[in-house]
This record gives sequence, structure tokens and C-alpha cells, in this order.
Amino acid sequence: MSGNGLLVAGVDIGNSTTEAALARVEPDGGKRFLASSITPTTGLKGTPENVAGIMTALEMVLERAQMPKAKIDRILLNEAAPILGGTAMETVTETVVTDSAMIGHDPRTPAGMGVATGVLVRIDRLDSDAAAEYGGVIAVADADFGYERAARLINESRANVTGLILEKDEAVLVYNRLDRKICIIDEVRRIGAVPLGVLAAIEVAPPAMTLRALCDPYGIAALLGLGPDETRRVSAVAKSFVGKRSGAVIKSPGRNVAENTLPAGKMTVYGDRSLETDVDSGAAAIMAALESAGEIHDVTGESGTNIGRMIDAVKSGMAAVSGETPRITDILAVDTVTPAAVSGGLAGETRLERALGAACMVRSSGLPMERIAEELGRKTGARARVGGAEAAAAVLGALTTPGVFLPLAVLDLGAGSTDAAVLERDGRIRYAHLAGAGDMVTMLIQTELGLRERSLAELIKRHPVAKVESLSHIRAENGGVYFYREPLAPKFYGATVILKDGELIALGGDISPEKIVSVRREAKRKVFVTNALRAVKKVSPDAKLPYIALAGGSAEDFEIPPMLMEAFAEMGTTCGRGNVRGVCGPRNAVATGLVLAMED
Ligand code: ADP
Ligand code: MG
Repeated sequence: MSGNGLLVAGVDIGNSTTEAALARVEPDGGKRFLASSITPTTGLKGTPENVAGIMTALEMVLERAQMPKAKIDRILLNEAAPILGGTAMETVTETVVTDSAMIGHDPRTPAGMGVATGVLVRIDRLDSDAAAEYGGVIAVADADFGYERAARLINESRANVTGLILEKDEAVLVYNRLDRKICIIDEVRRIGAVPLGVLAAIEVAPPAMTLRALCDPYGIAALLGLGPDETRRVSAVAKSFVGKRSGAVIKSPGRNVAENTLPAGKMTVYGDRSLETDVDSGAAAIMAALESAGEIHDVTGESGTNIGRMIDAVKSGMAAVSGETPRITDILAVDTVTPAAVSGGLAGETRLERALGAACMVRSSGLPMERIAEELGRKTGARARVGGAEAAAAVLGALTTPGVFLPLAVLDLGAGSTDAAVLERDGRIRYAHLAGAGDMVTMLIQTELGLRERSLAELIKRHPVAKVESLSHIRAENGGVYFYREPLAPKFYGATVILKDGELIALGGDISPEKIVSVRREAKRKVFVTNALRAVKKVSPDAKLPYIALAGGSAEDFEIPPMLMEAFAEMGTTCGRGNVRGVCGPRNAVATGLVLAMED
């Protein structure tokens, strides 16, 4: 007892963040909240490494309540559902070039424009007999031929040279020296693999445009004189060229480019009903299987296949925490695409391959929360205990949002899971823990945009983007134009930038703002709209919910809450960002609820 009443702290340890709420509990039971704090979780949720982060959170609340030296009497920890989330990603298609038959890529600086056909001839053999047999000739020059010599050989040749394929990045240098302009593709790294003496077609798109003839099977057929069977075989090649700025198709005998579907494997769901499903048809098949299985006890995947690898990856990560074999209780599977290198490609070509992303909920028989409580007690001298189920605490906390009433549903949009709880007027609580939340959105953004850094995907998730149109103005993704008094640094010119609280962060590569916005919004929709609807189905089967309050870090997102509001408006449900105690926004619901639920 410190002075009047007890000093009580509620602590919520999440996968991603640890939150604390500090309150004074009067002898008559009255509770007055003094401060809140939020800090990154240290270690995996539910492990003793969490203590460091908890200590930070507690120091922060005491500091904010202007009582840094005070002794906390009670610490209440969330009784974390012994369920953790993990995500995994695997590609399900692979494009393989056999016979070195195509080159399609985005060199920084191709030259010339238009389409050319001709037989492939080494640049120092342009006037050979073989070349003379055909009407047109496409010259092939490896790095040994500098741009001066390459241009001279073409200018001096009597052959009808229609195009040029270069190993080095010198298309513009050669182009500027040509008497008669032709189209040139460059940066073809494996030029030695380009077959000679066969017919080929090359295309370079005009500035700001992409290929037109080569990305159409009939376009290729016309250029190379293909019959119906050959045209069908070339359609995988045409697909590979979509969106590219330059390319070449070589008419070699045999097969050209193949799109392989990797063995997706079988998944077995053990539930109220157990069933096996082939996951070849993608995410929809998996989600349908999960839904028809009812309550799920575990899921396994055929070993050596994609799904097997994904499930094993998540389980082994979780086994490290609990030291036992974990069981999967829910999966959120989504279809996605990822830019991947075309294997056997000649110029570092990439293609969008189909991929499957999965978030899994894993149950182990209990997290050692009691151990954490004991250690906290030793460290602080407080009476620390595991003080109530997380789901119940979340609703109690969210119930302090001005404007809500019972029955109230809370959707806690965290890092690894979407947790739902409904508090009915008679005090009954139902809850559900669904796989997939903020981490999954970040993973999808990273994969689909082909970003090397996860941190960049996290920034893209949280902030809008803009195009720097001149050194004095930018055009934001919503179309707004903003001027700068001081000129921007030259490196920003023409760049797509992330607008992080007034700061500009340039994105490498040349991803357009439109592309980013569509990937970002689609990722959020695939995860959160899907999960919110799944969650409501589980906790309120008759789907009659007057109020939904959104809680957790992902409820701070600038576009997820509006998406959910829209989705629920159709069902007559009022949905909005929670505002815990009228001051914390969607944060601190569980920590606050733990204090509110304390009875003695
Ligand atoms: P947990 O309870 O699992 O620790 P949180 O409730 O702290 O998780 O939520 C963490 C998730 O919220 C992460 O995926 C993070 O990217 C996301 N997040 C945090 N702040 C924001 C924000 N301002 N905008 C969008 N997402 C956010
Ligand atoms: Mg949480």
C-alpha cells in the first residue's frame, strides 16, 4: 500500500509491442489511470527475454506519471493465448528458358525504336555468305567489340543490318555513330548463349512505352512466320514480355520458354472434420478446406513440397519457443506474385511468378508467462501475476471508447494475428484468434514489389507516396501538388518517394506511385478485410453486431480502418478505431482492461 491506495500496472506483451497502463486503485475500488506507455517487445512473446521490454515500459509509465521513484504494488500480465503467428512465402511457378530463345528485359538505356527481323550474325561476319542468304541481318556483338568498332562495322557493311544485340551497356553510344539508325538492345549478359544463323525478331519500345509486338503471340507469329502450333508454344514467351521495354525472340527449333508449376503439394487439415486438399489451385482451395473443417486441431503439409516447407518453417520457429511440437490452429493463405529471375535467361530477365503466402497460428500447450511474472516480482518487489485472458481484457479496455455500447466486438489487429472478442450484455465473451495481420501485409508488400529490405516495406505500408516532378514540387498519390520553397536535393528528381511526416525517402528502382498504391491497398484488403469478416463469422455467427472497435497497432494504419468501416457498413455495423479511455487511440486496450478487471 503506497500512500492512499495501490499503484497498479497492467502489462500487455505482444509479438511486436509491449504496452503498459499505470493506475491508482483507491481503497474503495475506484481506479484512476495515470499514464500509458508503449515499447518494442524484447524476445519472442512469452519468453523470459520479455522482461527487459516490460521493465522499459514500466519505467516509462512511472516517468510519465512524474513518479519515477515510486514502487509499483501490483503488476498484471496478459494471459497470452498460447498461440503465436508466423508467416511464410513460396513461389509456385517458375519460368525457365530452354534453348536460349528469348531475351526480354528493362535495360536502362536501349536505343532506337521499333521492330526488326533478321538472321543473327556475328558483327564481324556481316558480309558472310550465310548472312547474304537472308534479307535482313541482326548483328550480335560481345564485349570485345567496343562501340566505335561496332558502329564502324555496321556502317561499312553492305548487308541490310536491321538490328543489333550488344553485351555491354553501349546502345546509345553505338546508335549515335550509325549512319542509318536501327534498333539496339543492350546489357545482354549471356551473349555467348545467343545462337547464330537463325532468324530473330527484336523490339525496342518508344520512350515511356512498353513492348507491343513481342508481348503478343500473334505479333511474334507475324514477325517470325510461325505456324499455329509454333504460335501456341510461343505464348509463354509473349507473356514474359509484358511490361518490358526491349526484347528479342529467337526462332530456334525445339521449345522456347516454359512456365513450370512447382509441386504445391497436399495439405491435411485435422479438425471437426479432417480432410486432405490439393493446394495446386492456390489460396482459395486452402481457405475453403479450412472453413469446411470447422474447429482446427492441426494442419500438416506433404513433405518436400511447397506447402510442407511453409508449414514446417512456421512450426520449427515456434518449437524453439515452447520446446514442444506446436500445432496449427488457423491459416490465412493468399495468392500473390513476386518478381523472380527467369532461369536460363540471357539478360537477367525477371518475371512475375505466382507465389503463395501463408500466415499460421500455432498453439503450444502454454507459454511460460508465470515465469515472467516471478522474475518481474523479484526485480520490482511488486506482486506480479498473470491477471486475465487477453481477449477479455481487450474488450474491457475497448469498452472505454467514447460512443460504444454492448454488445461490443473488438478486433485487435496486431502483428501476427487478428484477435476478435465479443462481450454480450449478459457478460458472456466469445473470442477467436485468426492467423494473419500487420506482418503479413508487410511481407506481401515486400514480395510483390520485390524489395530487398523489409524495413522499406514497413515504411510503404505506413505512409503515402509521391512523385517528385521537379526540384520544387511533388505530386502526392492523391493527386495533390505540393511546392517547396527550397529546391529538393537533385537525387530526388523524378523519383518515387515515401512521405514520412514531411520527410522524403527516395525509393530505388523505378516503381511508380500507382503501382505502390495498388499493391499496398490490395495487401491490406487481402489480409484485414478477409480476416475481419472471418473473425466476425466466428464470434457472432448471426452477424448482428452493433459496434466494432478496432484495436492494436494495425488499427493505427491510415487506410485499414476506413476499409473495414466500409466493409461493415453494409452489414449495419458501426465500426471505428477504438479510443481507449478517450486518450490512447486504438492502443493500450489490453493493458487498460487488465487493470479494470482487477478485483482484489
Ligand atoms: P502485437 O500486439 O502483436 O505486439 P501491435 O498491436 O503492436 O502487435 O501491432 C503491431 C503491428 O502494427 C505491426 O504489424 C506494425 O507494422 C503495425 N503498425 C504499428 N504502427 C502502425 C502504423 N502507424 N500504421 C500502420 N501499421 C502500424
Ligand atoms: Mg496485441
